[in-house]
Amino acid sequence: MNKMPSPSPAIPGAEIVARFAAIVGERYAVTDPTDQVPYLREWRDLFTGRTSVVLRPGSTEEVSAILKLANELGVAVVPQGGNTGLVGGQIPDPDGREIVISLGRLDKVREIDLNSDTMTVEAGVTLERIHEEALAVERMFPLTLASQGTCQIGGNLSSNAGGTAVLAYGNARSLALGLEVVLPTGEIWNGLRKLHKDNTGYDLKHLFIGAEGTLGIITAAVLQLQPAPKSQEVAFAGLASPEDALKLLQIAKQRAGRQLTAFELMPRIGLTFAVRHAPGARSPLEGEHEWYVLTELTSGRSAEEAQALLEEIFTEAFEAGIVEDAAVAQSLDQAASFWKVRHALSEVQKHEGGSIKHDVSVPVALIPTLLERGIAAVTDLIPGCRPVPFGHMGDGNIHFNISQPVGADKEAFLARWDEANTVVHAIVAELDGSISAEHGIGRLKRDLLPGVKSPVELEMMRRIKATFDPNGILNPGRIL
Ligand code: FAD
Repeated sequence: MNKMPSPSPAIPGAEIVARFAAIVGERYAVTDPTDQVPYLREWRDLFTGRTSVVLRPGSTEEVSAILKLANELGVAVVPQGGNTGLVGGQIPDPDGREIVISLGRLDKVREIDLNSDTMTVEAGVTLERIHEEALAVERMFPLTLASQGTCQIGGNLSSNAGGTAVLAYGNARSLALGLEVVLPTGEIWNGLRKLHKDNTGYDLKHLFIGAEGTLGIITAAVLQLQPAPKSQEVAFAGLASPEDALKLLQIAKQRAGRQLTAFELMPRIGLTFAVRHAPGARSPLEGEHEWYVLTELTSGRSAEEAQALLEEIFTEAFEAGIVEDAAVAQSLDQAASFWKVRHALSEVQKHEGGSIKHDVSVPVALIPTLLERGIAAVTDLIPGCRPVPFGHMGDGNIHFNISQPVGADKEAFLARWDEANTVVHAIVAELDGSISAEHGIGRLKRDLLPGVKSPVELEMMRRIKATFDPNGILNPGRIL
């Protein structure tokens, strides 16, 4: 078995910090503990870290110089984008030996090529800004996440983010044509190609996409743009069961094909939490239902076309007794208010005490089985717990979250995280699913990997890591 290389265990001292600071300039080397706080904790406080310096390089060359020096000295480096990752990969260890490279200053849109439908951007550009820049030239970049105001494209690509539009457009991996990457040795790979077809050997960009910053630092990317839609129509439906949601999904897929751009499932308790805690969120439907589905259709031609399709889908679903009630958004504001409920779901759970998270996927057909078995298993394990499984049903990905029983002790509940994971992941394994559909492995799920990957698969991963990062300086202890 290939042994994982490891960086120096020493905490970088003042002299070493000064050498790194000289690369970016004092102003962009954050050493003050108060100023460092935003880089050292993530929003749920699941991971907090310590570091001697946060470096904020302003160019690919500066990233290269930092990695070259870090590689020489054996100093461990943690790349950080918008710090919205959910598996702890972007937060340095609490022991303080890792330095942080924050990519936010690499924030240029280098080029928009309308004839190739591409946008070349630096790693620190936020996803939201990419949406805005694309819309300004009547194009669209489809990757859509609730965190898009903060997360950065470098982080999106490094985590191979999914989100709500995977059903029609695929995940981040499918949306990047080329990358610029700085390797752990400091070498710069300019792979900023705009090609849809390029069978010249190994497609190296795919190694860095989804590598969670363990193989190289992405400094820029060529993104593939889509035509801006003429209309996006949204419906919010109440249903009795996930089986009915599956039937609705089939009708929608058959009738709308790739025009079906989102199909999001949520349980009643999720809607209740959203309405209770998200300012301005309200239920789109009068009555209560066990399950809800948000369906979005996109048209490149007209609003009328998308509305007519939506009507066809829901007429068929009503006639078949699949849907109990449904509301179609009548304006952009109303569509935004339907989405607000869905996008609030990750955040609102924290107002209900402890929440144990899972980010799993199974074949789409098995989502009802996953939900039925998963809910039974976790309520058996922790009586009174409140399962809040929700998410991207259209692509088979459910965030199988569990809120603590009302009035329970939060710490005692969270202490059962691993037990709950074991139960849910065992069901996922039986259903041939994945224990990390879109959030990655990071530190949170690293120790689960040997249970779900074969020895030969793990060994290939270790060899790739050792080839790219012989001294093990880049994001050590993440993934592997
Ligand atoms: P960070 O959190 O800063 O980093 C993530 C990982 O990438 C870390 O391992 C880090 O070391 C590495 N990294 C960051 N930048 C670079 C770089 N330039 N080069 C190399 N490595 C780098 N995720 C989904 O997939 N789908 C969702 O629907 C979704 N919804 C979310 C909703 C909320 C409210 C929140 C808070 C998060 C959600 N996420 C979702 C998770 C998160 O937003 C994504 O993983 C996002 O892609 C992370 O981007 P970031 O810039 O914040 O990266």
